Amino acid sequence: MERVRFAPSPTGPLHIGGLRTALFNYLYARKHGGIFVLRVEDTDQNRKVDNSEAYIHESLAWTGISPDEDPIKGGKYGPYRQSERKDIYQKHMLELIENGKAYYAFDSGEALGLAREKDEKEKGGFKYNAQNRMLFDNSLTNSKEETANKLKEGNVVIRLKVDADTEVMASDLVRGSVRVNSNELEDKILMKKDGMPTYHFANVVDDYLMKITTVIRGEEWLPSLPIHQLLYDAFGWNPPKFMHLPLILNPSGKGKLSKRDGDKNGYPVFPIQWNETLGYRESGFLPEAHLNYIAQLGWSPKREEELMTLAVMEKEFDVANVQKGGARFDFEKAKWINQQHLASITADELINRFPRIVESLNDVYGGKTVTIVDLVKERLVLMNDLEKATEFFLKDPEDYDEKAMKRIGKFDIKTVLELISESVKENELSELKDAFVQKGEANGIGLGAFMQITRIAIVGGLSGPELFSILEILGKDVTLRRLERLINITTL
Ligand code: GLU
Repeated sequence: MERVRFAPSPTGPLHIGGLRTALFNYLYARKHGGIFVLRVEDTDQNRKVDNSEAYIHESLAWTGISPDEDPIKGGKYGPYRQSERKDIYQKHMLELIENGKAYYAFDSGEALGLAREKDEKEKGGFKYNAQNRMLFDNSLTNSKEETANKLKEGNVVIRLKVDADTEVMASDLVRGSVRVNSNELEDKILMKKDGMPTYHFANVVDDYLMKITTVIRGEEWLPSLPIHQLLYDAFGWNPPKFMHLPLILNPSGKGKLSKRDGDKNGYPVFPIQWNETLGYRESGFLPEAHLNYIAQLGWSPKREEELMTLAVMEKEFDVANVQKGGARFDFEKAKWINQQHLASITADELINRFPRIVESLNDVYGGKTVTIVDLVKERLVLMNDLEKATEFFLKDPEDYDEKAMKRIGKFDIKTVLELISESVKENELSELKDAFVQKGEANGIGLGAFMQITRIAIVGGLSGPELFSILEILGKDVTLRRLERLINITTL
C-alpha cells in the first residue's frame, strides 16, 4: 500500500509551489490506491505563524484534495503535528546516541562563529564534520564525566556523526541516483538547544513511523537527501522512494516564482486569501481549473486533451512524465484553462457554486438568472467577470461607446430608433428579428444596422452576447425605455 505525505511547515500561507506538492502527492496516492497524509511540520516555534495551519486545511478543502489522515481527522500513525511528537523524537535521538551515530555538542555560538570566520577566510567555507569535529567541544572530545556535567547545564545540541570520505548514494524517481562524498556534508544538528528536533531528524523519523513509501516534495529539498539517506542508514531503516519536483520559475524563466513577482505583475500566488492578499479563489478561479493548471507545472500528461477534472488527473497521473527542468509559470495559460472550465460547466452549477457573485442578478431576475448566466458564461475568463458581463441586465447604460456611435453615425439614428421602437411595440420580443427584417426592407435599412443600433441603446456598445436573447430577458418596458433614452440623447 502506497503512503505519501504533504508536510508543510506552518510558517505562512501555502503558495503555488506548496499546493503543487500537495496535488502531486494526492494524485500519486489516488493513482496507486494509496493514502495521502498531511503532516504539519511545526518544530520551529520561532517561524510558526498563527492561522497558517488553518489556512493549509482551508486551501486543501477548497481545491478538493483532502488528506486521508491529518491532524484534525487523525489516523493510525498520529499525532500528525510534529510539536505533539516530542517524546517520539527524544526516544529515537537516544537510540542514535547509544549506537554511536550521533553525539552531543556543547560549542557556544561565539566559538562556532570564530571557527566559521577563520575557515571562511582560509578555506572558503566552514563545515562542522569529520575533518574538524575533534577540535570542538562535544561528547567525542570530552570525558564521560565532563559530558555528563555539561548535559546537566543544558545548552546542548545533538549532531549526526557522518563518516569521513564515504560515498553517500540516494536515488530519486525523477533524477536517478544522487551521489555525494560525505566530506561535502556536515554533522547536521538533529536536536536544537530547545530540545526540539530539526527538520531533518523529525522528517525522517516521521516518514519512517508513518510508513511513508514515497516522499514527493519540491526540488529545494534535494540537497537534504544525502543527510536523510544517512539518517535512514544510521537507524538501519530502508528509505522510502523519493521524488523531487522541479522548481516553479517566474514567467520570464529567470528565477523562482515569488510573491513579489505576483504583486508586481498582478497575479495571485496563493490559493485563497491571506490577510490582504487575494488568492485564486477570490480572483474567480474554479478550484478544478487551478489544479488543472498547476498540475502542468512539472507534469506533461500523455494525452491530447489539456482540460482535466481532478478525477481524470487521478487516473492519468504518471511519475514517468514528471520533468526535471524548471516549470515556467504562465498566468495567461492559467486563465485560459479557467475559461475553458467555466464554459464546460452548466449555468445551474455556476450559480450554486458562486452564490455571492450572482446575488444581485438573482434579486432582480430570480429563476431567469440561469438563462442570463448561460448566455454570458462562454465569455467569462474569471468567474468575477460575471458582474461586468451582466451589468447591463441591472442598469441602463449611462454612456455609449464613442467608437460604436461613430460607426452608426452614417444613419439617421433617431429615425432608425423610432422604427425599432415601433417594431418592439408591435411584436412579441421572440419574433423581433423577423420584424426587424420586414421594417428594414420597407425602409431601406439592413438588419445589421437595426441590430447594431439596438445593441448600443441596450448595452451601451457593440459587444455582448446574442442581442435578441438579451431583449427577451429584459422585457419590453426596459427595452423601450432604453431606446427612448438614446432617442432623447441623439436629439439633444
Ligand atoms: N517541512 C518541509 C516543508 O516545509 C517539508 C519538506 C519535505 O517534504 O520533506 O516543505
